[in-house]
Amino acid sequence: MKDVIVYIEHVQGQPRRVSFEIATKAKELATALGGSVHAVVLGKNAGGAAEQLKAYPVDTIHVSEDPDVDGFLVDPSVDYLEAAAKALGPALVLVPFTAIGRDLGSRLAARLGAGQTADVTDVKVEGGRVVSISPKLGGTVLTSCAFKGDYGIVAVRPNSFKAAQAAGAGNVVQLEKPAGKTYRIKVEEVVVEAAGELGVEEASTVVSGGRGVGGPEPFKTILKDLADSLGGSVGASRAAVDAGWIGHGHQVGQTGKTISPNLYIAVGISGAIQHKVGMRTAATIVAINKDGTVPIGEFADLLVVGDLFAIVPELTKQIRANAAVHA
Ligand SMILES: Cc1cc2nc3c(=O)[nH]c(=O)nc-3n(C[C@H](O)[C@H](O)[C@H](O)COP(=O)(O)OP(=O)(O)OC[C@H]3O[C@@H](n4cnc5c(N)ncnc54)[C@H](O)[C@@H]3O)c2cc1C
Repeated sequence: MKDVIVYIEHVQGQPRRVSFEIATKAKELATALGGSVHAVVLGKNAGGAAEQLKAYPVDTIHVSEDPDVDGFLVDPSVDYLEAAAKALGPALVLVPFTAIGRDLGSRLAARLGAGQTADVTDVKVEGGRVVSISPKLGGTVLTSCAFKGDYGIVAVRPNSFKAAQAAGAGNVVQLEKPAGKTYRIKVEEVVVEAAGELGVEEASTVVSGGRGVGGPEPFKTILKDLADSLGGSVGASRAAVDAGWIGHGHQVGQTGKTISPNLYIAVGISGAIQHKVGMRTAATIVAINKDGTVPIGEFADLLVVGDLFAIVPELTKQIRANAAVHA
């Protein structure tokens, strides 16, 4: 492996933050491997995403605005990535550990006959080998995996690396459409469930609500207000999702999203192991709970004991007042 290929996930030309994170990390890895960084950007407004990428340390940005890759079908994107990887030769491929990235990464691994490491929180080059670090068993064990073949796919957990601007060569090249591909599925309609809100896996602050919140309204009012005041997103425990108070896309935990925000505020959540495995790597964990002996208190940095309906609005008020003073 020499060069590093980065798949740039974006929404209508706006790269997701994890794309900048892995582009930044790719430079460090490529330097250690003696190769260069190649970004692959596909779909509608890929050119716009490529312009933003020029501020990051990428040597070549491969672009295609082929409409076949839009509409959440993964195979056409895999075709482009496979062609790019085969044209470059032995390479490391970084994809985000998101719903799309996981799907795409594993299909690409199968096409290239390569291994894939998933939910990776660190990657390094040791003695010329690429080594991926992933937490397992709820973060109680860290595994290190090295690739044996010519290609390796690494699916990186969002928020694992800092995105740092540092202009690279930024050469933009148009990708040729891979020949002879036909697709048996056609997307008829796309319905956007919740527009305008950053997903919990992207947000640097997440305010999550659990069963203690008592119904759907607080998610739209007091939790949303607190999240907005901190520029964050609203998450949830499975109990809240199962009760139908908020969509599954917001669920944090074993059967939801695994996230690593800078700040995680758990409101009315007890901290069951299945919830903990999804958020325990947050840099700072604050729990608000009426029970001072609740399990989440054992691993939170701060447990605020009291009624959430009194504490959350007051906290939001204080944050807004403080922001106004410093504006
Ligand atoms: C296979 C499997 C997978 C699972 N996957 C997930 C997953 O992905 N994510 C997940 O979250 N769970 C998951 N679970 C469920 C998990 O075991 C717990 O049942 C769930 O996390 C509990 O949610 P909770 O903390 O919101 O509710 P509870 O455990 O009922 O806790 C509610 C908390 O709210 C507090 N509270 C109540 N009223 C107030 C108030 N007015 N002010 C302040 N605090 C208050 C209570 O003191 C309590 O601590 C899974 C379970 C299984 C078996």
